[in-house]
Amino acid sequence: MATKASTKTKNKTEDRGNKNSFEQFKKLLLKRKEELASSVKNHVEELPDTGMEGAAGDTSDRASADYTSEMFGVLLQRQAGTLEEVERALTKIEKGEFGICEACEKTIPAKRIKALPWARFCLECQQVHDRKQARRSSSASTDWDSDDD
Ligand SMILES: [Zn+2]
Repeated sequence: MATKASTKTKNKTEDRGNKNSFEQFKKLLLKRKEELASSVKNHVEELPDTGMEGAAGDTSDRASADYTSEMFGVLLQRQAGTLEEVERALTKIEKGEFGICEACEKTIPAKRIKALPWARFCLECQQVHDRKQARRSSSASTDWDSDDD
């Protein structure tokens, strides 16, 4: 008995093979990129002119304004950082390098990619990377965190 396969698939997607599973990540990343880009843009527009560009100028008696722009700055930095990661991931999709750890060049587990499509490293390398970053920022923070005497 031959089973009559119901070939009523209406979706016009030409191929849904595993090879093109990056497509869904690409869409996801493009969407994220748009969101981040517009968000960053909005924040830049909201930023008082003491912001990013003129930060090196006179910052003597603007403590509260500094605080606000610092808050914005942190948020902005984070978003801009993610935006960069997202753009990088998109480039990798184009190059066919998506999902490969930048450090050890192993395939990043699908589970991790699904959770974080712009992940640059596998979990192990990410931990090493984070540790390096943490060390760097904690040594930098001792500069202005000189409270004890
Ligand atoms: Zn790795």
